Amino acid sequence: MKILVTGGLGFIGSHTVVELLEDGYEVVVIDDLSNSSLEIIDCIQKITGKDFSFYQEDVCDLNALEKIFSEHKIDAVMHFAGYKAVGESVREPIMYYENNLVSTLHLCKKMLEHDCFNFIFSSSATVYGDPEKLPITEDCKVGGTTNPYGTTKYMIERILNDIHIANPKFTVMVLRYFNPIGAHESGLIGEKPNGIPNNLMPYIVRVASGELEILSIFGNDYDTPDGTGVRDYIHVVDLAKGHLCALKKAFDSEGIFYYNLGTGTGYSVLDLVKNFEKVNGVKVPYKIVERRPGDIASCYADPSKAYRELGWKAHFGLDEMMRDSYHYILKQHEDV
Ligand code: UDP
Repeated sequence: MKILVTGGLGFIGSHTVVELLEDGYEVVVIDDLSNSSLEIIDCIQKITGKDFSFYQEDVCDLNALEKIFSEHKIDAVMHFAGYKAVGESVREPIMYYENNLVSTLHLCKKMLEHDCFNFIFSSSATVYGDPEKLPITEDCKVGGTTNPYGTTKYMIERILNDIHIANPKFTVMVLRYFNPIGAHESGLIGEKPNGIPNNLMPYIVRVASGELEILSIFGNDYDTPDGTGVRDYIHVVDLAKGHLCALKKAFDSEGIFYYNLGTGTGYSVLDLVKNFEKVNGVKVPYKIVERRPGDIASCYADPSKAYRELGWKAHFGLDEMMRDSYHYILKQHEDV
């Protein structure tokens, strides 16, 4: 079976490519390196001892897609490529809508032209907006998104549904990620955001490693046990494995399916800081600042549908997530 992975050198994409190769799939990656680098290819080969095809192209480019689909008989597509910085999406909405929507439309168009009917989509818990209940189940209301990034995910879900209705064989797995953190245990691949990180975990590891001075905690007056925001952090390797379970289901079903990929447990910002300090024996200085606009108090999954229907659940706990996130950053420093 041959799987086309868009954004396959990015954070979640690279971990999923590793799992696919280790499970015996053939892999073709398309990535324009806008938020990744060529070294990741060597790292994936080092981890798996396996090779894969690589195209340095933009998923929006129809000619590039045509070339890939004519050179390979693709059985399924996993679509990770996309812009994902919330703040940037507020400043550059056209860029976000254009890139995230056009890439998906072009991909689906080429898939249908080449009789490829299995699509795994990277969606996000952000589609639930401020959730109507906790834990969040897949039937909770979607669409109350608070920024263009989130709205692209919501719009793509709608588009995929319409494509499925018009082409019932076109099977879609919509995977709604909670907060992916951690890194491969080898320390060879992980999350490497450009510039100053927006997300909590990359920020914590950079404070711990001395690259940044102090963590700003955005508000301690939320309606949560310690006042800081609560999220469902999931180890990226668990998340990657969820994609393989979804892929197997896509191969023997027809339909559009929605799954929360989270652990089901919510941790606060302070829980993370304290756990990180305990596991890694290093201090993370922090200060409490104003709330970040658009943030919600709590967000965590009910992941039981993925367990019932895909046989998937997360195995790693917070300790492993903290350990692997820090191990990755320390390894990056060693290698410089
Ligand atoms: N957060 C924080 N300081 C930071 C980054 C994030 O206090 O420098 C908080 C944020 O307010 C939220 C949690 O950490 O409660 C997770 O934020 P992140 O941006 O990682 O994910 P998301 O908001 O998308 O769930």
